[in-house]
Amino acid sequence: MKLLDGKLVSAKIKEDIRQEAAAFLASAGRKPHLVAILVGNDGASETYVASKMRNCELVGFESTNIHYDADISESSLIDKIRELNADPTVDGLIVQLPLPKHIDPERVTAAIDHRKDVDGFHPVNLGRMQRNLPCFIPATPYGIMLMLEYYGIDTAGMHAVVVGRSNIVGSPMSILLARNATPGNCTVTLTHSRTRNIKEEVLRADIVVAAIGKKHFITADMVKEGAIIIDVGINRERSAETKSGYKLYGDVDFGAVSQKASWITPVPGGVGLMTIVGLLKNTLEAAKGSIYN
Ligand code: NDP
Repeated sequence: MKLLDGKLVSAKIKEDIRQEAAAFLASAGRKPHLVAILVGNDGASETYVASKMRNCELVGFESTNIHYDADISESSLIDKIRELNADPTVDGLIVQLPLPKHIDPERVTAAIDHRKDVDGFHPVNLGRMQRNLPCFIPATPYGIMLMLEYYGIDTAGMHAVVVGRSNIVGSPMSILLARNATPGNCTVTLTHSRTRNIKEEVLRADIVVAAIGKKHFITADMVKEGAIIIDVGINRERSAETKSGYKLYGDVDFGAVSQKASWITPVPGGVGLMTIVGLLKNTLEAAKGSIYN
């Protein structure tokens, strides 16, 4: 078993981004700028946004966090998005999900200028991704593709099984793996909670992407010998053992599955770190105007 090491790969790519951000500052006279809007007080969301902001600083980006109370109206939020869309000093704009129930995430996502949509959730970016056109790719799938690319894993011809069909992970991952690109060119099966006999499906996979949100859902008896295992899951459990007071578990039973896998991502230290890299790369591309100009 070989580890797909998010720590190593993310550090290397972040160093490249840092150099490109310095070059951007030298030529444009300003830093790439990411604005993140956070609504309410969800603990996990606050942690994610803080980490995104910290990583922006690390690579030499400017970052702004706008934090609203949970009772902000949808129209006020969308007004702010429109203001930021029109602000030429803002390159990337993200709204952290999930949003409170009274706010429609579809309307909010669609309100973001697709040229600043560095989360890659806007329908224009989604459509362009499906067509294999330049676009912002959602950060987690983008990070996974960068990881496969870094290790030179050629997925062409493989049977990929993606478990989970969310808009932010499973569904875009299935599109990327099926595209005529490298990595890509897989035959893809997209599974979800209504899939019959999921074990049988996963057993056929040369590459498994687990994005379910259930601790250790993928067990060793579900995995073919030599399969590549990408674990997206982040399941938090309270723990007296750690300083933070909680422990993270993947959707894959790492201990047992790693005995059979050819490559595997750990949790933590895998896909989560690459997600940040995906976001940073999108923000840099937005600043440079290399996708839309
Ligand atoms: P969602 O809850 O949006 O989607 C979960 C998906 O899993 C759904 O498609 C659901 O099916 C499917 N599912 C649930 N139970 C089963 C089951 N028993 N059998 C088969 N499929 C099932 O989650 P996300 O995609 O947002 O996130 C998935 C996990 O990844 C979470 O742990 C999340 O924290 C983590 N995550 C990690 C990131 C990172 O950076 N590492 C980034 C984003 C998420 P259905 O559609 O039928 O309901």
